[in-house]
Amino acid sequence: MMKLMETTTDTIESLLPELEAIYKDLHQHPELSMQEVRTASIAADYVEKLGYDVTRNVGGTGVVAMLRNGEGPTVMLRADMDALPMVEATGLPYASTVRSKDEEGVDVGVAHSCGHDMHVTWLMGVTHLMAAHRDAWRGTLMAVFQPGEEVARGARSMIDDGMARRFPKPDVILGQHVMVGEAGTVGHRSGAILSAGDSLKVKLFGRGSHGSQPQTSIDPVIMAASTTLRLQTIVSREISPRDSAVLTIGALQAGTKENIIPDDATLKLNIRTFDEDVREYMLGAVRRICCAECVASNAPREPEFTTLSSYPLTINDVETSERVRKAFESHFDERAYEAAPAAASEDFSVFGREWAVPYAFWFVGGTDPDTFRKAVKEKKLNEIPSNHSPKFAPVLDPTLRTGLEAMLCAAGEWLDPRDASV
Ligand code: ZN
Ligand code: ZN
Repeated sequence: MMKLMETTTDTIESLLPELEAIYKDLHQHPELSMQEVRTASIAADYVEKLGYDVTRNVGGTGVVAMLRNGEGPTVMLRADMDALPMVEATGLPYASTVRSKDEEGVDVGVAHSCGHDMHVTWLMGVTHLMAAHRDAWRGTLMAVFQPGEEVARGARSMIDDGMARRFPKPDVILGQHVMVGEAGTVGHRSGAILSAGDSLKVKLFGRGSHGSQPQTSIDPVIMAASTTLRLQTIVSREISPRDSAVLTIGALQAGTKENIIPDDATLKLNIRTFDEDVREYMLGAVRRICCAECVASNAPREPEFTTLSSYPLTINDVETSERVRKAFESHFDERAYEAAPAAASEDFSVFGREWAVPYAFWFVGGTDPDTFRKAVKEKKLNEIPSNHSPKFAPVLDPTLRTGLEAMLCAAGEWLDPRDASV
């Protein structure tokens, strides 16, 4: 076992009540993307008291905290801080009842239904343990609390605020996410672990008219209907069965009344891919089909494409994830498993991509073990509330401890004084 884990085991136990209180407080006070003012200041104040060199307001509410502890590699650990615009329905005593205004000024419920409150708590716990046990490691720890993951803007805005210029380049970047999975387990993977996610809005232009006079119109409803069906042929007819992709049209809007042919129609679609070439192909095919359907309808102008969000692929570096796997297997034994890639997306990899730094991301189970095992046995895993469900909330024991140990254990791979190689 690594020195860092050996030394911190007792402290973890005594730190858990404090972390549980922090978690419940964050859970009850969720903040929307790019508005994480309270969360960021709690994290920043906490690490500052521990002796970290803290920079606030990086790319909005982002926090970068550095702890230099002699010669050695620099390890960046990242936690995202934002919550979602939804009403929590977990029924937990510490459930959120917060309401807030989103960017359009709409009043919405706010809930930590993706578990980012757990991520913040884990990272705060790690900063505490690393500060308390400086004798057990060498190098520099860089703790990053990131805003706006749910809108795919936070990592980008920290980079755009000069992150790479203002802070030393890390040797490795590590991150983790609480997911549906048996609490106490960690899922690692080499290569693609999360899909790319691209959301587009496509506006199709026709010519409005009276419903009784279709010959004077160019009907955008027909155009949108035809486009919707044809777009579904990209995955089924154009992508190899060896590759995988998802294309969902989640919104289709046109018109106001049965006897008015509207001027235009809007589609909103979401694409998930696990390969950069497949991603580019899909994006190109969407454009091609939308434009061709407009030509087929004799549309007065080309469709208008707006990118709503774009999440890059999360492709774990092979060598880095191999080290993480070894560390997990030696600490967690059979509780460490190889995860399948998830069709979920993250902006975590933006840091590694922009900085050209290898990275690894992994999953930490947050589902009550009995509930999870029962669901596996009955083949009802899809009935467990997943991230973004109003009923999603991890069980605190042993999820809190597991994420803490996972991060320490992985960071120790680079920072252990007995194994200080990069
Ligand atoms: Zn999420
Ligand atoms: Zn998330």
